[in-house]
Amino acid sequence: MKYLVLIGVLVLAWVLFFKVRRKPPPVGRPDATPQVAAMLACTHCGLHVPKAEALFDASGRPYCGEAHRLAGPQ
Ligand SMILES: [Zn+2]
Repeated sequence: MKYLVLIGVLVLAWVLFFKVRRKPPPVGRPDATPQVAAMLACTHCGLHVPKAEALFDASGRPYCGEAHRLAGPQ
């Protein structure tokens, strides 16, 4: 009878151990590698600006600002 209780405890510990190990990682955890913003060189002066802040002309060339977009390529 003593061994039956011992085996029951061991089986319970084993089941709990694997239940905990199979738990999926928490959702919404920040990625280990930070996102790097794509940089584009201004067609006029060569200054690198984030893609989100760059201005584009009709041909799709990136510029650092409105003045250089109007000035065009150099
Ligand atoms: Zn520029």
